Amino acid sequence: MALQTEDLLVSKTLTLREALAKLNETGQGILLLADHDGRLLRTVTDGDIRRLIIGGGDLTDTLSSLPERNSRTLSEDYDPMRALTLMNELVINHLPVIDSDGRPVDLVKRRDLDTRILLSSPHLGQYEMEYIQEAFDTNWIAPIGPNVDAFEKELAAYVGSNDAAALSSGTAAIHLALRILGIGPGDRVFCSDLTFVATANPVLYEGAEPVFIGSDQETWCMSPDALERAFESAEKEGRIPKAVLVVNIYGQSADMDRILRITKKYKVPVIEDAAESLGATYGGKASGTLGDMGIFSFNGNKIITTSGGGMLVSDNREWIGKARFLAAQARDQVKYYRHSHVGYNYRLSNVLAGIGRGQLRVLKDRVATRRAIYERYREGLGHLKAFDWMPEASYGRSTRWLTVGMLRKEVTNITPQALCEAMSSWQIEVRRAWNPMHRQPIFVNSLYFPHKEDMSFDNDVFEKGVCLPSGSNMTEQQQMRVIEIIEKILG
Ligand SMILES: *Cc1c(COP(=O)(O)O)cnc(C)c1O
Repeated sequence: MALQTEDLLVSKTLTLREALAKLNETGQGILLLADHDGRLLRTVTDGDIRRLIIGGGDLTDTLSSLPERNSRTLSEDYDPMRALTLMNELVINHLPVIDSDGRPVDLVKRRDLDTRILLSSPHLGQYEMEYIQEAFDTNWIAPIGPNVDAFEKELAAYVGSNDAAALSSGTAAIHLALRILGIGPGDRVFCSDLTFVATANPVLYEGAEPVFIGSDQETWCMSPDALERAFESAEKEGRIPKAVLVVNIYGQSADMDRILRITKKYKVPVIEDAAESLGATYGGKASGTLGDMGIFSFNGNKIITTSGGGMLVSDNREWIGKARFLAAQARDQVKYYRHSHVGYNYRLSNVLAGIGRGQLRVLKDRVATRRAIYERYREGLGHLKAFDWMPEASYGRSTRWLTVGMLRKEVTNITPQALCEAMSSWQIEVRRAWNPMHRQPIFVNSLYFPHKEDMSFDNDVFEKGVCLPSGSNMTEQQQMRVIEIIEKILG
């Protein structure tokens, strides 16, 4: 139970001993001295009591022996950045907030305004250092080594894939997947529209053309209806795509059964961008393993991290072997340097793979924590009725990598941008939802098939969506603070 402002209220009849005991018990380093009507007279700190005793006072004296002082206070509509500046100027750590009658209603603490609550920051555990130490001890500080091999095996086993290649990023994994499928200039790739640009950039690396497929309201992932329409149109044009790149957004798997039924009909391979859905399931299978190839990311903001890294998984061992070959500069199997293919420097380092091995051991906990964070937001903010939360589709289990909601215009006038900015002044990072690919200047000439011809759900998500702090290392108190501030801003 969080400490309330009332718990800090004291009257002049309290003895110094009792005041010290109360300071000790409440642990805030401050008490609020109030008159009969509950109006604030001044603040009381350990230092104030120490000065009374040094000046000849006794522990049985009461707080009425304190000199009168005009303590600085804030009004209820105070600006958080002004409050921090004021605390700095006065060299104090607290400022009481008083209502129009002078009664304390809140206490602003420097610690709350000093530490930023981030959207999703790396959450390291107890196992990573062992693997890193081993790499140092054995001098495997290279893009090959035992941690790389073990991380590949452990991740493949975790998701139930035949094989996996550890790479320097999720983007590199997507790029290699496209290379392995032989995608090149003039080819088309169908790609989820609602995503981060990293999904679509590799299509351009290979000189191919992305065609964007919209998402639907039920899953927020690729709409099978839009995919079907895009295929029908491509067939008429005689330009069937060479691959479909499906994104599992914000921790939720796309409806792969329906999507694969369509892609099988046209015999087109599927790459699953599961950068955001490691740990999620679809019909009991691991998200990222339903397509022909899947990719994961271990960037700093993802559910587990290696600071930067990625993985390509597939049941096709030949493809994964080829990925390892291309990722290490595509060196031919001869006794000197010979290259018959263009390669890349895309391997994951053995040190970072060590971090990944440690992180993989706590992935289940991380999923449980992120899901619990979502539940707390849903419960804590439910009464405002201001958010339409991203739904969890019945075919699987989302990780709730990020808690995302769309602001309801019926309830609040505040825009996602304004909410992000207001939260930022409270040192809380809230971000807009992804800006769909069809709206990006680099893709102005690309085709786009929304869920319904005259309705783009992708635009809806962008125009109304906000992502709330969801890091598994956020404390419950921090999350309560996020909820409190959102209530203050929207209420
Ligand atoms: C993070 C992310 C990527 C890219 O992963 P990196 O490891 O940062 O290269 C790709 N797709 C999606 C949907 C992502 O969220």
